[in-house]
Amino acid sequence: MPTQAVRLFPIENSDNTWRDEVFEHLNEQLDQMIEQIDMEKIDDITGAIFRNKSEILGHLTLGLIKRKYSDLLTQEYCTCPICGKRLKAWNKKVKRTIESLGGNLNIHRPYFYCKNCHEGFYPLDEALGLASSPKQHDIQDLETWLSSELPFETASETFKRCTADTLSADHMFETTNQIANHFDILDCCPTKDEIEEKIDELSRGKFRRPVMMIAVDGAHAPTRPEPSPWKGKRGKGEWKEAKGFRVYLIDSDKIIHLISWHQIQDDKELAEALRTIKNAGLIPEDTVRLCAIADGASWIWNRICEIFPKIKLVLDFFHCSEYIHNLANIQYGKGGRKAQEWVEATFVRLFHNHVSDVISGIKRMEPASPEAKEKIEDVLRYLSNHKDKMDYGAAKRAGYHIGSGAIESANKFIGHVRLKRSGAWWYKTNANNILKLRCAKYNGTYDRIIEKYKEIDREKTYAKFNRTNNF
Ligand SMILES: [Zn+2]
Repeated sequence: MPTQAVRLFPIENSDNTWRDEVFEHLNEQLDQMIEQIDMEKIDDITGAIFRNKSEILGHLTLGLIKRKYSDLLTQEYCTCPICGKRLKAWNKKVKRTIESLGGNLNIHRPYFYCKNCHEGFYPLDEALGLASSPKQHDIQDLETWLSSELPFETASETFKRCTADTLSADHMFETTNQIANHFDILDCCPTKDEIEEKIDELSRGKFRRPVMMIAVDGAHAPTRPEPSPWKGKRGKGEWKEAKGFRVYLIDSDKIIHLISWHQIQDDKELAEALRTIKNAGLIPEDTVRLCAIADGASWIWNRICEIFPKIKLVLDFFHCSEYIHNLANIQYGKGGRKAQEWVEATFVRLFHNHVSDVISGIKRMEPASPEAKEKIEDVLRYLSNHKDKMDYGAAKRAGYHIGSGAIESANKFIGHVRLKRSGAWWYKTNANNILKLRCAKYNGTYDRIIEKYKEIDREKTYAKFNRTNNF
């Protein structure tokens, strides 16, 4: 990072003027507080400090900036970083407001303008790596973190209660989307190396390659159509499917989480996401035994098999058992002994991999009612479609998961917790932004995307000044 490119005379301030100034300000502040508030109880005292926190800390921060950058605060001449022309600072220093969790302050710093290049710049801003907005990256980080957990209104209130500073729900909303807009699936995933390391660790001393599961599922999320520029009316809400997947390793009875990715998307987009992580080397097919688990939705199986032709397939056992239970209830009467016996016998057969026996057994059933007849046909269709994914006994013995609990809990944690709030109907892009951030949290990459955002923001703000500057 060429942040100090325009510093000509890097001298650390050896005199203590800055320190005296800090104490002078603090003294004034203390006098003011003592004058204004009768500090009797601890609440009065801490309350006074807390309410004035931003200003108190701001003085300290400003002092340390003066200590470090006295040269840039008093700089009179500078070389244009674009064309190399020698420039004189404007007569008047320019004020800049900085708001951060470490205090609010104003700095007055020299401004340089190059008439050749029609560019103005502030060497101090770049040296400090200031955000493009007055609210610094630490505030933006906290806003985004809170907003991905809580409704924007509650996030705003939480921010105020924790920091004594005010930020509107709208600001929370804008910042969160602005940050999330920069990122896509790979930003929110661990790296190839990190995944390989976990696989290596798990493979050590083992005879068989570890099992890597890809669980795929959809969950409903409340959405509304994006506003169109020519129609001001708010669109009617509708439930759309947030489709997602979770990739994890199995370590005896433990799950080692690797990747979650959920978005309101169609099956083509979901397939694209799977293809993206495959192409990025995040699914090393040669070092694991790869297995997909999902319910009966045909879009899932079609897409998975397109992308991973050699993958093992498992139909979620609980989804399958629902079909079996339903049929038993309709054919033999709900909750009856006969129904229960038939279900148990069927499960035993399924666990001994006798799906075809189960199918022929059902084919021989005398339907107890027209409804049962319909159900029998339905179940036969279902079992025939999925019989290649139902070797439950063998799959279990080989260490694969046969239930999709792992993705259901991810669905709940990533999607439901934040999106399903009473009265909340989401625009697709905003909901997907929240989902991205929540996936990043779940995948352990949230701090990484915030660091990346800071770099992007600084790059956008300062890059143009560093085109020809190599000193
Ligand atoms: Zn210039």
